[in-house]
Amino acid sequence: MATMSTPTLDATTAPTSLYVHVPFCIRRCAYCDFATAPYDDASAKAYVPRLLAELERVPTGAAMRTVFFGGGTPTALNEPELEQLLAAVRDRIRLQPGFEWTCEANPESVTPAKARLLREHGVNRVSLGAQSFQLSVLSALGRDHSPDHVFRALDLLRAAGFERLTLDLMFAAPGETNAELERDLDTLTAQQLDHVSAYCLTYEPGTPLTRMRAEGRVTPQDEDAELVQYRIVRERLAAAGLAHYEISNYAREGQESRHNLVYWRGEEYFGIGLGAGSYESGTRRTNTRLLPEYLGEWGGAPFPPHEAETLGASAKARERVILGLRLRAGIDPRDFTVGCGGSLEELYRDGEIESLIARGVLEQADRRLRLTARGVELADEVFVELV
Ligand code: SF4
Repeated sequence: MATMSTPTLDATTAPTSLYVHVPFCIRRCAYCDFATAPYDDASAKAYVPRLLAELERVPTGAAMRTVFFGGGTPTALNEPELEQLLAAVRDRIRLQPGFEWTCEANPESVTPAKARLLREHGVNRVSLGAQSFQLSVLSALGRDHSPDHVFRALDLLRAAGFERLTLDLMFAAPGETNAELERDLDTLTAQQLDHVSAYCLTYEPGTPLTRMRAEGRVTPQDEDAELVQYRIVRERLAAAGLAHYEISNYAREGQESRHNLVYWRGEEYFGIGLGAGSYESGTRRTNTRLLPEYLGEWGGAPFPPHEAETLGASAKARERVILGLRLRAGIDPRDFTVGCGGSLEELYRDGEIESLIARGVLEQADRRLRLTARGVELADEVFVELV
């Protein structure tokens, strides 16, 4: 963990995106490896002031294009805590015309009062962690809600005036059949949403699900079955008018997540909170994931304990290639002669790009370089070669 000097940023030069992490969840899902902590009154009461101390790094009046409250479950905070946080952020920044302010929520944590609070303070997009509409799948994932909670949350959010709603869906859960996934997609598409994120279940080290797999208590889907389900998701969402614009994301035109586009385009952003990443003045930082450390003293620094890395031109360029290729639009090779210290040819002088094109996983179209449909399915392998 490092403590670095504070970069000087003012409201005109500061990043125009802000991520705020609220780590609390009522119960931990079996597959989760995010920076989370169980909700309890004392921890939440101590956490919000620390978050606000970190917020002071954001220049007063900084004009934000996007704000994202993620977690954890931001809506696990009680109403006074949520209001304190929303009001502090709102007071600190200016919102640019056409701004996007997203808040993640779990279905069981959405109440009429919290939906109203979010809307009143400027949140205009909610990302709901539905994951599935099948009780058997929700149970396999260790989720703490039922499908009815999702419908109720959607109704409450719409009644509070939210027009931009996105759902998270998970597929390839242990034992999940293609027919169950199809039923999830029927239910989801009937909701006529403008945006969906759909993730293949992964078994992260240290999670309960990974331990259960090691003990033989759950059987993961094999890679072929995962691929079949990924294709089902893509085909069904495309048929419902949701374009596949990023490896795991689908949207109607103009409804893409503007905040996540900042990450995929390699742009800078503030990030505050437990385990939060930030990219400010060319330095990437990742805050401690240990709640006692985050809640403790920071030795007068504007950052909690963190790891920091300032990328050199070549590493930065490679990172931009990999992040940009996550998007179906891909990258414009001409961008790499401008800000990255060299052209794409110089970066991959051993012919990596040509070889991936010859293998049919990359293609050049409309002066852009992007993954092919096959490349999307093999994206992890392609990125390993490009890193
Ligand atoms: S709700 Fe999300 S952040 Fe919380 S434990 Fe489940 S997966 Fe993790």
